[in-house]
Amino acid sequence: MDPFPPLGRFVDIRGQKCGYSPGNTPSSDCPAEATWHIIWNLDLETGMACGPHMDLVRARYMFVDSHAIEPDCGMPGTLWDFDSKRCVYPDQPGTEAQAVLLSNSASDQSAP
Ligand SMILES: [Zn+2]
Ligand SMILES: [Zn+2]
Repeated sequence: MDPFPPLGRFVDIRGQKCGYSPGNTPSSDCPAEATWHIIWNLDLETGMACGPHMDLVRARYMFVDSHAIEPDCGMPGTLWDFDSKRCVYPDQPGTEAQAVLLSNSASDQSAP
């Protein structure tokens, strides 16, 4: 069995829920739709948050960067473009120089 889901180029991630969960249990999950994409740390761990929880994140937590969610945010192999504040797909010319590969893609994560 191929362990990888058959994801295509265009995946609609509207409907993706906010990742805020105060007790880290399903019953405490925020039910709102996520509108913000967050990169938490230099290990390139990412999360998603709704508007109010993005405000909470800004007020309370350290994070590296954030941007409003776009369709490319949910794509495997997406690059985080710090300059343009969005996710870009590596087939777009000239993006790889300033963008970083996110850790949710199928790349080697053992590098320091
Ligand atoms: Zn939320
Ligand atoms: Zn994104």
